[in-house]
Amino acid sequence: MSKHAVNLGWVCCILLLVTACVWRSDREDPVSKKPVSAPTTETPASNYIPDEDHGDFKVDHQQLKTAKFTRIDAKIRDSKLLEKAADKLNAALTLPRDVILRTAECGRVNAFYTPKEPSVTVCFELMDHYYQVFRSSGESSDEAYNQMFDAVRFVYLHEVGHALVDLYALPITGNEEDAADRCSAYINIEYLGKDGVDAVLAAAKAFALDGKRGNANRLDLADEHLLQEQRYYNSLCMLYGSDTTKYQYLVTDKILPSERAARCQAEYTRSRNSWAQLLEPYLRK
Ligand SMILES: [Zn+2]
Repeated sequence: MSKHAVNLGWVCCILLLVTACVWRSDREDPVSKKPVSAPTTETPASNYIPDEDHGDFKVDHQQLKTAKFTRIDAKIRDSKLLEKAADKLNAALTLPRDVILRTAECGRVNAFYTPKEPSVTVCFELMDHYYQVFRSSGESSDEAYNQMFDAVRFVYLHEVGHALVDLYALPITGNEEDAADRCSAYINIEYLGKDGVDAVLAAAKAFALDGKRGNANRLDLADEHLLQEQRYYNSLCMLYGSDTTKYQYLVTDKILPSERAARCQAEYTRSRNSWAQLLEPYLRK
């Protein structure tokens, strides 16, 4: 076997182990991270009968290695953000196996889905990044925390979108990263009320603020994630398309260009119906 073939094999292994998200530059880790608890059941997606329920979303708050994120960790635990998300998802969906919703100190700004475990991890570094970004936009500390939690809700559901694609072996014909964004927008807008709308708006704001931090380079353009600016407009388009009367201000205030807004209702309807159809077999009856 040639050296190139060996290298390609390792690359394939890594790609199969981790679906890293949100941040282009931090996708290779944490391949070596050990599962905290082994899944109690494991049913291959191809053998999974939707009417049967073999798992739940479960929560894992990993212990902090440093004191840097103590306040965020306390707020996450006190607000029961993950527990509430797990309860709602468990009430809505059947699963072929357990899925861990995790907070962790990762050593880098990131969020990712790990198919092998399976688990969804949002790193404290990403939460802190959101907090700093919102603070730098002029928000008070309390408001920056509120918006950070809202954006984190969008990120968790983006990663849950990857988990559902993997666990249900859902057919995705386009860019999975974009599909995961639309899954998050769909669940947030259709099922989480004001909290969901706040999550979409906070994520859009984070995308916009991050987009201003530098011009896209070659790796950004080659990345499977859309550019932050595109994710910003897509998020606003989903929200506007869900209720063009309620969110007319997005167009009136020239936040969302009218040229794009004209097609958002049809775009959102198609995205919503697609996700609803894909998830329907797995909804608890
Ligand atoms: Zn993703």
